[in-house]
Amino acid sequence: MTRGTLRSWGRYPYHPQILHHCHWQSDIARRLDELSVFKAGVLAQGNGLSYGDSCLAASDQLVHMRALDRFIRADWELGLLVAEAGVTLAEVLALSVPNGWFLPVTPGTKHVTLGGALANDVHGKNHHVRGTFGCHVSRFGLVRSDRAPILCSRDTHPELFAATIGGLGLTGIVTWVELQLIPIRSNLIDATYFRFQALSDFFSLYRELDAHHEYTVAWIDCLAKGRRTGRGIFMAGDHAPHGKLEVPSRLEKRVPITPPISFVNHASLRLFNLVYYYGHRVKTTKKSVAYDRFFYPLDDLLDWNRLYGRRGLQQFQCVVPDSSAEAAIGDLLANIAATGTGSFLAVLKRCGDIASPGLLSFPMPGVSLALDFPHSDKLARDLLPRLDAIVRAAGGRLYPAKDAHMSANDFRTSYPAYEQVEKLRDPAINSRFWKRVAQT
Ligand SMILES: Cc1cc2nc3c(=O)[nH]c(=O)nc-3n(C[C@H](O)[C@H](O)[C@H](O)COP(=O)(O)OP(=O)(O)OC[C@H]3O[C@@H](n4cnc5c(N)ncnc54)[C@H](O)[C@@H]3O)c2cc1C
Repeated sequence: MTRGTLRSWGRYPYHPQILHHCHWQSDIARRLDELSVFKAGVLAQGNGLSYGDSCLAASDQLVHMRALDRFIRADWELGLLVAEAGVTLAEVLALSVPNGWFLPVTPGTKHVTLGGALANDVHGKNHHVRGTFGCHVSRFGLVRSDRAPILCSRDTHPELFAATIGGLGLTGIVTWVELQLIPIRSNLIDATYFRFQALSDFFSLYRELDAHHEYTVAWIDCLAKGRRTGRGIFMAGDHAPHGKLEVPSRLEKRVPITPPISFVNHASLRLFNLVYYYGHRVKTTKKSVAYDRFFYPLDDLLDWNRLYGRRGLQQFQCVVPDSSAEAAIGDLLANIAATGTGSFLAVLKRCGDIASPGLLSFPMPGVSLALDFPHSDKLARDLLPRLDAIVRAAGGRLYPAKDAHMSANDFRTSYPAYEQVEKLRDPAINSRFWKRVAQT
């Protein structure tokens, strides 16, 4: 057991968690049994890289899964991998890249675990081509407090298969995952960067480029106003056809302390955004970059969340349907720019129409906007409710993996399958997020 001040990635809300370690798959049922004294409900923890309170246990007692980090089977002919749920995506890549295989879907950090990626049904820059992480999981093992361990697939326990993918860790503890990888011939990504001047250009670019590229995403200058609203850099990439199959090595630095106040403020943001935007001097730049640089720029600076100071940060990530996307995203960005706040990394991404097998999966065909804000009472009182109202009116929804403020009403309206997940929830498991949005 580790007592401490462990928090979610956003460091808000503040509910320090106690960690109970598991080292073997056979430990888990016993742990769940022992921890059943905490009636509010325990929760599995992967690597704690969810921002808000969906990775915080209702009882503040977490079953830490990171030590379940063994590979079980790999078929390098078929690219099929079976590994324990505490294995991280970085560990998968270290093994699979030299064998010519890559993750089918990856989020913006490689330090998440397989269990965490499954429970949030994470998406990446290729959602328009591959859907979510859960689309590539064929089977997994599940331990619950009320039955013997089971194997779940589309055919075996299909209801628990669907409820667990994107099921926020509520339906049991995933012990291992079987994942289909994609073939690669190089560790490089052939990337093209397009500097664009306004939000309407983003919509034209994705309409033109999504059909031709595996990966597309845009960085947005969240402070730009007026006719410059939504200006940014659109990135399109594909696995290079030739190159080495080596795992790139990069020097990682760490933020050593948490400053009392946020380093992310209007002045630092303005400077960063100007340098980044005009740093792309010509309208179109092409280069081949190591996959690490393309997918995981934030992993260079470990513990960067500390830069937001002791009060922490909140990430706002929404997706709005295609029919209302341009107007709604324009409205969101105008409201954000008017406050002069936001983050160095503000991201726009078109989500495609590949349906996830998961019941509570976040993406829908439309456009997703994600950015961080230093937490403050004013943010919670003024800006977030305004942004929520725009998303609600547009028929969109917020991402539970990032959320610390969504109302119960918005959650229930935008995730109508929540009642099915509640019926299949393990009675010994519950999170602070779930209590807040599904049980009040
Ligand atoms: C820098 C950064 C970039 C990110 N980029 C993206 C992105 O591009 N796309 C995206 O979708 N997400 C993104 N995320 C969010 C992140 O991918 C998810 O929150 C992910 O689920 C975190 O995984 P984790 O292993 O840290 O799990 P945790 O955060 O510890 O837990 C997440 C959920 O998984 C459950 N869980 C963990 N392990 C198990 C298990 N073995 N069995 C059952 N349930 C389990 C937990 O109970 C919890 O509900 C990003 C996060 C960061 C910090």
